[in-house]
Amino acid sequence: MTQPIQERNVVLVYVLGICTLGIYFLYWYIKTKREINENFGSSIPTCWLLIIPIANLYWMYKYAEAYSLHIIKDDNKALWALLFILVGIIVPAVVQLELNKYARNEIPMRQKSNRRCPNCGRVIPEDANVCPYCGKHFETFL
Ligand SMILES: [Zn+2]
Repeated sequence: MTQPIQERNVVLVYVLGICTLGIYFLYWYIKTKREINENFGSSIPTCWLLIIPIANLYWMYKYAEAYSLHIIKDDNKALWALLFILVGIIVPAVVQLELNKYARNEIPMRQKSNRRCPNCGRVIPEDANVCPYCGKHFETFL
């Protein structure tokens, strides 16, 4: 069963995160990773990588990539990845504020896409400017 996007109070996320010495932040990553993967079709890997040095940087890159491609849709994944890795403390605020808009239906969830990349043939978001898999740039939407 799909885990719906949950609205969370950002201040509360930080209060709980600090009170639990970071454990709640890990829980928050596990929950949001699942919500993002299930609702946006992204493939952020297991949160176990978060506790492994170096692998945690890769994980944060994948998380930032999903945020950029599927949630805020600005195609700026490198910038978000750099920001998330350098200033990790802002991630729950940045991501949760955006997820809350989906939870409150201020931004409608996208329907299942039928569009395929003409270059690699994989299913891609209807409104993608760039193929998330092969990186091909598209001139126009269709
Ligand atoms: Zn492609």
